[in-house]
Amino acid sequence: MFKGILIEKSGAGQSALMAQLNEADLPDGDVLVDVAWTTLNYKDALAITGKSPVVRQFPMVPGIDFAGVVAESDNSSFKAGDRVLMTGWGMGEKRWGGLSERARVKGEWLVALPDGLNLRQAMGIGTAGFTAMLCVMKLKEQGVTPDKGEILVTGAAGGVGSVATALLAARGYDVAAVTGRSEEAEYIKGLGAKRIVDREEFSGKGKPLAKEQWAGAIDVVGSNVLANVLAGVKYGGTVANCGLAGGMDLPTTVAPFILRGVTLAGVDSVMCDRVKRVLAWQSLARELDLEKLERMLNGVSFDVVIRTAPLMLEGKVRGRQVVPVSGLVS
Ligand code: NDP
Repeated sequence: MFKGILIEKSGAGQSALMAQLNEADLPDGDVLVDVAWTTLNYKDALAITGKSPVVRQFPMVPGIDFAGVVAESDNSSFKAGDRVLMTGWGMGEKRWGGLSERARVKGEWLVALPDGLNLRQAMGIGTAGFTAMLCVMKLKEQGVTPDKGEILVTGAAGGVGSVATALLAARGYDVAAVTGRSEEAEYIKGLGAKRIVDREEFSGKGKPLAKEQWAGAIDVVGSNVLANVLAGVKYGGTVANCGLAGGMDLPTTVAPFILRGVTLAGVDSVMCDRVKRVLAWQSLARELDLEKLERMLNGVSFDVVIRTAPLMLEGKVRGRQVVPVSGLVS
């Protein structure tokens, strides 16, 4: 038996509790992992609180990522004792996830822990940081290089935004960071942002086009904020969007696309192909300043994850929420 968070559904709705689970309950897969660290991501908070229909089948162990040590393997790429990480592939949505002391998964979904990161750091980065790197890679693919001008990052005090700010600054971009929390300004500047922009400037219904200001943007918010960001992107620029922290709608017009050639590029980490995954993790291990990563991390004990989830949805947590499951670091 081992501990895990379980989301159950009954006539009264869904609820999450810490449960004793059995290995026989785990889904099929060819690799059994002892989970060392996991994280609380925005999507996990949606799943745990039931605020959004993230969970597709019940009962469900939430947790869209984990890092740990292989306990048993029938997959030729992994053996007992290997240090691995996993994000996405429907974990915590359609398949039991990482908020559990043990997880059984398909070996093809696992990524070997990259050199230069320990298990805790890997989950400090987690899905949010991995997605931030995918966004940074997307801007580069689109030709948005540091010489083109300032890059806007929304939700900058959150998980994706914090890592994106640090990664962009490390690559030599000038970052303008949008936040609704002025008290986090010094934290965000410490990650490398050149200036802070008040979220209020983006929250209202904006015009189809505004002054051209940014060469590109990484947006985690959606809704009015994304619409206003698009309106202010320079000719030929790109916005990489991966999130909906402000809403799923997008009240914009085609003006930025047809008059300024702006690209809105979607970023998904869940089904991202394996080659890109490995590349992104290697780049993270190489480029992310681990001292800055440390500043982003908040330890959330496994036992208080359920209570922390609503705070995350209220935008009250900063950076990345790392959860020691076994607490093994190396
Ligand atoms: P966090 O909760 O850590 O950060 C989200 C940030 O967004 C907050 O810190 C806040 O930043 C800002 N924010 C929150 N609510 C609002 C609001 N109502 N209006 C405007 N801004 C708001 O979440 P993550 O960084 O982990 O995730 C961010 C988004 O990205 C989520 O929607 C998540 O689901 C999505 N995501 C998508 C992935 C993918 O594969 N596509 C993978 C990972 C995440 P501040 O206080 O600085 O303004």
